Amino acid sequence: MCDNLNQTPLTSSDNGMVYWCKNCRNFSVVYKTSCMMFNIRDYSSFLQLLNSLGKDDFKYEIGSQMNVILKNNCSSVGLSLTEEESQDMANLMAEGMLLYEANRLITT
Ligand SMILES: [Zn+2]
Repeated sequence: MCDNLNQTPLTSSDNGMVYWCKNCRNFSVVYKTSCMMFNIRDYSSFLQLLNSLGKDDFKYEIGSQMNVILKNNCSSVGLSLTEEESQDMANLMAEGMLLYEANRLITT
């Protein structure tokens, strides 16, 4: 896990925040109670995964809501999201990616 305290904030919403760490070249995504790190390739794949979710994927009834559970094989921690949350998170991450690209064009 990255312990650089000077990560660059890329974007934020009511529910989350996306940071970029130029030391280890990873994104940190904080969304509600979760925090995840991704390299660039994994960030894009995870964003694609969020965008590819359909109604049928939200099959776990938690409380009174239907959730999708996203879990990486090699991680003991996963995410449980409602359809609205998955779209919200996808919007946040898409915006983070755009701003990352924009920053990269300015600084290189
Ligand atoms: Zn770092």
